[in-house]
Amino acid sequence: MRLTNGNALIGRLAKSAFDRNVPIWTSAPVNDLIVEDGAVKGALVQTEDGVTEVRTRRGVVLAAGGFPQDVLRRKELFPHAPTGQEHWSPAPPGNTGDGIRLGERVGGRAIEGLPNAAAWVPVSLVPRRDGTSGPFPHFIDRGKPGVIAVTKSGKRFTNESNSYHDFVQAMIGACGDDPEKAAWLIVDHPTIRRYGLGFVKPFPVPLTPYLQNGYLLKGRTLRELAQRAGIDPAAFEQTVETFNRDARKGEDPQFKRGSTAYNRYLGDPDQKPNPCVGPIERGPFYAVKVVPGDLGTFAGLRTDPNAQVIDESGRIIPGLYAAGNDMASIMGGNYPGGGITLGPAMTFGYIAGRHLAGVTEESTSATSRPAA
Ligand SMILES: Cc1cc2nc3c(=O)[nH]c(=O)nc-3n(C[C@H](O)[C@H](O)[C@H](O)COP(=O)(O)OP(=O)(O)OC[C@H]3O[C@@H](n4cnc5c(N)ncnc54)[C@H](O)[C@@H]3O)c2cc1C
Repeated sequence: MRLTNGNALIGRLAKSAFDRNVPIWTSAPVNDLIVEDGAVKGALVQTEDGVTEVRTRRGVVLAAGGFPQDVLRRKELFPHAPTGQEHWSPAPPGNTGDGIRLGERVGGRAIEGLPNAAAWVPVSLVPRRDGTSGPFPHFIDRGKPGVIAVTKSGKRFTNESNSYHDFVQAMIGACGDDPEKAAWLIVDHPTIRRYGLGFVKPFPVPLTPYLQNGYLLKGRTLRELAQRAGIDPAAFEQTVETFNRDARKGEDPQFKRGSTAYNRYLGDPDQKPNPCVGPIERGPFYAVKVVPGDLGTFAGLRTDPNAQVIDESGRIIPGLYAAGNDMASIMGGNYPGGGITLGPAMTFGYIAGRHLAGVTEESTSATSRPAA
């Protein structure tokens, strides 16, 4: 495997563990915590040999990835998903909220009242050969010139170059009472061949498989595309006409695309004068549907600054820690920028480890002080 980015990070962590003979059990879910005298003393783990009792000397760190695949908690906390099913997460399928549930069972509390219970991302659903589909996250394509997003009303609703978290909130808001919260990303032929769109790759990869499996919709005219997608055709034609008039000058007076460094970073520097804005005029035209998804959940267990899980009244539950998305996000349900999940996950994992090992700031500075 080519190890880059997150794989490289975890590869190095795994090497450190292997070098120290730390056992790593895969496909071994934790089912329950062992509590004695009010303190967490271990866990029951399902292995292929049955349930194994693991006793700890110092404590247990919950890090089961939050609840992106927990339909019941999604129903409770995602306002756009009244049954929990109206949401498609690209997070690992095993992140079903076990850690938070285990913490709650011994007195922990998930944080409440966040403005957003997760970091949102628009996803398109890529059909698989077996009839299922996989959610593809749209991070970059929305920022390219010549891409706009409309709801079924045929109208744009936001600066498409803004972050995925902001985009989804705007999309949900624009859909109003419509039970389906969705939008279509729209491009013309030169744009899709240059940048691709979602799971569709740029030239020379053929478009045909994506058209055949229904992922990508095509229309010889804007009207035909709108009719195929179920978008209001007249309003859509008007939207594109208005957008194009300004886009030919590199302007977007309606939503000010290209007005921030974030916008411009995701644009195309060769597109002048605005790296984020280009007209949609040379058919055929294409659309990919996007729906709400997430990168990870924010509403984890409440902890103290040492990553120790606390109960309703703020008392520490001895022996229990949480890190990653099992811990309530320190961002308070907001998404100031990329890295706001992995950064705190690493930081509080490290803090939890040091606290469990009894390493204090004083002991570190004493041992690291150079000899006189
Ligand atoms: C496509 C995508 C792109 C992203 N990009 C970024 C980015 O650029 N920057 C950033 O900061 N964040 C990013 N994120 C978010 C980030 O990857 C996650 O928030 C982060 O990995 C969560 O870490 P975690 O340790 O909480 O959970 P995970 O890394 O998901 O690990 C949880 C593990 O627990 C296991 N597990 C679940 N239940 C049990 C159980 N009962 N017993 C034992 N194990 C269990 C799961 O199988 C999983 O292996 C991205 C997420 C996605 C989906």
